[in-house]
Amino acid sequence: MNTDTVKFNDLRRVTALHGEEIAEAVQRVTSSGWYLRGEETRDFEEAYARYIGTSEAIGVANGLDALILIFRALLEAGCLQPGDEVAVPSNTFIASILGITENGLRPLLVEPDPVTMQMDAASLEKALTPRTKAVLLVHLYGLCAYTPALEDVISRHKLLLVEDNAQAHGCLYQGSRRTGSLGIASAHSFYPGKNLGALGDGGAVTTSDPGLADLIRALGNYGSQKKYVFRYCGRNSRLDELQAAVLNVKLRHLDADNARRVEIARIYQEGLKDLPGLVLPGFGDEGSNVFHIYPLRVAEGRDALQIRLKEAGVQTLIHYPIPPHMQECYRGWGLKEGDFPIAEKMARSELSLPIHAAMHPEEAQDVVRCLKAAVE
Ligand SMILES: *Cc1c(COP(=O)(O)O)cnc(C)c1O
Repeated sequence: MNTDTVKFNDLRRVTALHGEEIAEAVQRVTSSGWYLRGEETRDFEEAYARYIGTSEAIGVANGLDALILIFRALLEAGCLQPGDEVAVPSNTFIASILGITENGLRPLLVEPDPVTMQMDAASLEKALTPRTKAVLLVHLYGLCAYTPALEDVISRHKLLLVEDNAQAHGCLYQGSRRTGSLGIASAHSFYPGKNLGALGDGGAVTTSDPGLADLIRALGNYGSQKKYVFRYCGRNSRLDELQAAVLNVKLRHLDADNARRVEIARIYQEGLKDLPGLVLPGFGDEGSNVFHIYPLRVAEGRDALQIRLKEAGVQTLIHYPIPPHMQECYRGWGLKEGDFPIAEKMARSELSLPIHAAMHPEEAQDVVRCLKAAVE
């Protein structure tokens, strides 16, 4: 088949969608002479908090810092104690786990529901121990992971709910509340490839707890609330003015950009629904999936299919090829293959199709045609 390459993501085109406004914003910051902790960051924090539905948003350097700062603040505030367990999905991206272990807390890996690929309420309840004090809920692939069943387990066991919203900007729970506003605090990443992406690194914490917000602001500012007075041994984690200005532009277009992703996902859903050996992702209820990733599952021969697609000019990725418990960095846990079979099966079968806000429907049709040819 003679198609141009369909890229997994195309950041040049994604940026060009709002290119003029972005160039204007960059020019404004460049000529202002003010590059950190200024008006752009304050405007973005206010607009993002309003969008998510929290009273506060705090710009930070990246998504991992957002997670690290949330757990550090919960420790400083006495809501968590060193060694406490934080439940987290066994199939998440490594940063979710690093945010926990960086703070001397212990991740309690919970297997996902094999259909939705999100944390499973029954598995959570079964895994809980007396040391489990919090849940880090990851809205993986852009699908809302929260459910009434999880809400029930979390409230009955008096667990703190923290969200990792790095993949789900704009996603809704039950059609009204945004992910990122559901628990005590939420981490957001603005890595360029995310649904709301900067032109470099960026991140934020959202919360409606003013005390926690002050603490996180201080911890990201060397531990200082007053100039040259250091209450905590903090770190330096700032969102810079250039990134904030770009994000101010892109936030205004986020809902429309997400709608384009959903449109691409619908083309895949329609085009692939009868293909044997493929499991397609669900859409959830209205607004609950912003399709950061379109995660197919391939019952058999995933790697061979990926190669055939590459030869046909379709770029795909795997999210993620090795689950956290089998990573070298966590060999000290003493876990092995077989300990989290659902996460392991996902790592063997997941295949992410191209999807981004600048993708044309015709490109998605090409991907469908290539996939049909490749599985036949
Ligand atoms: C991208 C991502 C992060 C980390 O964000 P960075 O900005 O790259 O540090 C954390 N959690 C999840 C689920 C992510 O996808």
